[in-house]
Amino acid sequence: MREVLDALTEYEVWQNVCGQGGDEAYYFWLRAEQDQNSSELKAKLNQAEEFARKIADEVRFFELRISKIEPDAQARMLEAPELSYFKHFLERLFTEGKYMLSEPEERVIDFKSSPAYGQWVRMVSGLISKEEVEVVVSKDGAKKKSGFSELVSLANSTEKVARDSAAEALNNIFRKYLEIAEAEMNAVLGNKKSDDELRGADRPDTLRHVHDDISTAVVDVAIETIYNRFQISRDYYALRAKLMAVPKLKYHERNVPYGEADKKYTFEDAVALVKDVFAGLDPVFSITLERFLEKGQIDVFPGKGKHNGAFCSHLLVGQPTYVLLNHTDRLNDVLTLAHEMGHAINNELMRADQKGIYFGTSTASAEVASTFMEDFVVARIEKEADEELRLAMMLTKLNDDISSIFRQAACYRFEQELHKTFREKGYLSHVEIGQIFQKHMADYMGEAVEQSPGSENWWVYWSHIRSFFYVYSYATGLLISKSLQAQVRADKTRIEGVKKFLSAGISKSPQDIFAELGVDITRPDFWHEGLNEIERLLAETTALANKLGKLGPK
Ligand SMILES: [Zn+2]
Repeated sequence: MREVLDALTEYEVWQNVCGQGGDEAYYFWLRAEQDQNSSELKAKLNQAEEFARKIADEVRFFELRISKIEPDAQARMLEAPELSYFKHFLERLFTEGKYMLSEPEERVIDFKSSPAYGQWVRMVSGLISKEEVEVVVSKDGAKKKSGFSELVSLANSTEKVARDSAAEALNNIFRKYLEIAEAEMNAVLGNKKSDDELRGADRPDTLRHVHDDISTAVVDVAIETIYNRFQISRDYYALRAKLMAVPKLKYHERNVPYGEADKKYTFEDAVALVKDVFAGLDPVFSITLERFLEKGQIDVFPGKGKHNGAFCSHLLVGQPTYVLLNHTDRLNDVLTLAHEMGHAINNELMRADQKGIYFGTSTASAEVASTFMEDFVVARIEKEADEELRLAMMLTKLNDDISSIFRQAACYRFEQELHKTFREKGYLSHVEIGQIFQKHMADYMGEAVEQSPGSENWWVYWSHIRSFFYVYSYATGLLISKSLQAQVRADKTRIEGVKKFLSAGISKSPQDIFAELGVDITRPDFWHEGLNEIERLLAETTALANKLGKLGPK
């Protein structure tokens, strides 16, 4: 056991201080995000990544050989008191080991994964992203040449002619690449089937669960519980249709925003507001925000060549966390600050308690801290807003929640049926894929959303279905967050449990961390609790819309 302990300890030291790419890869990655047009930075980053790839290839043997240790020895290692710190790390490796092949086989799979999977997926997304179409953008008939991502956002425009014109353009693009996407989808489904056979995974989603350290039972019960409550999302879309005064929404009209928040928030305003909400939850949260500002760990304003959007980065426990924003004084930018600082606070809590091998978040709970902080900030702004703005904010929140939970659960079920049918039939035409897709979309949207002609092809650009079963994590993350929010609202002292959950990193599985907090996430009740929160928000929103006379004559 002495040798194992020494090896694991050394391995962790390596993960603490340098990992695969060290400070160099982290530095050049961050710099390249600030200045995406710099070929000098791109070159440095490529060199660092190439170096990291070689290290990864050379070090692959370590975890693989441990994962393949004889079952008897595995049992002894898990019992050994001197290895107790490494117990969960070993448990994960041993579980993964059941699905791992020999070193040369793993190498072959790794080398072949680009042509067998990555290049297919990149081909379709690459072809689509190159498309440019002229569409009508305003009532007076003005046209504009728009790229693919612009078309996607135009399809949500509050201007009807613009969104209908963009949706038609998108339908045409998907139709144009349908045959290619059919070939791509069958290739990647076939590759996945072969991988599962070689590795002995009995379900197409098994390896996703193993990778994310979440039990299949937990994911099954979460998806099933959400499915049983699809009436919530159906009622939500019925409300949206009423608010838009149409009998049915078109498929692409699901996300059309309601109302507009025109209040401006300077970055100072945003900080003051978020800090106040954080301080009300726990002083550690507001102190973390202050420290990040003092030390310049937040890149706030837009700049030429800077990554648009926002993120919070972390790599190794020994490296600082950075937050990137593009603050333009909108209400949404305030929420983004809260969201990204949620990730940052999660990192700092983990950093205090965990070292290299346990510094990280499980995919299943990666969005817990961020949505937790964001929702409390939303609640504060809503409290101070007039009723019109409050209604708009509640509808935005509901739309996000419905998309993250119900849409992703429907997508998960679509993926399950897609893999199952492919494995039974051997090949799926784009018509068959479209039928399965539409069935599951109609399932959660209900009667108030039309499955408009052409929308059966919108799977063509849904990138997440190519990451196989990843989407469950949006639903579980947000529902875990909602149930923690409900606990804290009922009893402020429960924030200690939330902090404990966030500081545990990946030292235990999500279900074990919860079990220590006295919560059993393998039971449907737990998931119902989060879903009740959405149902409550929907009821409040409906009542407010009614009060404001937005639902037509009573
Ligand atoms: Zn996030």
